[in-house]
Amino acid sequence: MSEKYEQMMKQFPHLYADRNASMQVTCMCWGIDCGEGWHDIIRDLSAELEAMILKLPPEAQEQVKASQVKEKYGGLRFYMTASTDEMEKAIGRASRKCSTICEDCGQPGKNEELFGWWRTRCHDCYLAELVYRCPSRLTLLIETGIAVTQAEWNKYKAKHKDK
Ligand SMILES: [Zn+2]
Repeated sequence: MSEKYEQMMKQFPHLYADRNASMQVTCMCWGIDCGEGWHDIIRDLSAELEAMILKLPPEAQEQVKASQVKEKYGGLRFYMTASTDEMEKAIGRASRKCSTICEDCGQPGKNEELFGWWRTRCHDCYLAELVYRCPSRLTLLIETGIAVTQAEWNKYKAKHKDK
């Protein structure tokens, strides 16, 4: 998990009460298993959920916390140990937002399959992944039928030259 998510979790101690618990107890030991492009959406959702937990009776507060936060098929999966309808609605809203935002960089994106994996990404990050995974780079771009102009290609090379 990235440092950015690690820091964010500390801001919501009730919601992420299990963040240091063992893997026998919770999937939260894996942290937030999502790309940083979704950070703001997950932070806003976390703030909403934390506020909702604090409104519960004190004896109920400990029962309500995040149990797993991850990406699956390019969508956000946010599971709670227990929840109210209001919480589920907030999770639904955040999940719908994530399905339109690039998980890698936070720009507008869409859900697309690449080599059998569904992810939500912008065009730039999609192509960057394509180039990164392809051993014979340009050949695959041609084989997959994705049109890339020379200018686009130069831009991707410049942006992802570290890969
Ligand atoms: Zn992107």
